[in-house]
Amino acid sequence: MTECVFCRIASGDVPAKEVYRDDDAIAIEDLNPQAPVHLLVISVKHYPTIGEATGGDSSDAAISAALIRIASRLGEERGGRRGYRLVINTGIDGGQTVGHVHVHVLAGRTMGWPPG
Ligand code: 5GP
Ligand code: ZN
Repeated sequence: MTECVFCRIASGDVPAKEVYRDDDAIAIEDLNPQAPVHLLVISVKHYPTIGEATGGDSSDAAISAALIRIASRLGEERGGRRGYRLVINTGIDGGQTVGHVHVHVLAGRTMGWPPG
């Protein structure tokens, strides 16, 4: 069995509050929300990082585009006129803690800049 928690959520082995699913991606509520709206858009197929998701063949590129499309649609829905933030943490310096590509959708409060 895979050790990757997001693969296990995508396959249904680990429960999550799912808000969207299609053949390529799911969106769930983050377990430890950092904003009133905090969703994760996760590829069904395992890619360690966004670089690896975009660096493969054209079907991989289509999936990374789908992640952004789904994330921005959820941001529009949940953030409304106030807006939202999409984040893709990558690698150690990027603050990535789960090694399976995902897009954070944050909304419901004013975000700070620069990020920590
Ligand atoms: P990263 O730090 O890799 O950018 O983001 C990983 C995110 O996944 C974190 O915000 C963390 O709270 C969330 N997370 C980690 N494990 C789980 C889990 O089992 N279920 C859900 N729903 N979120 C998780
Ligand atoms: Zn995985």
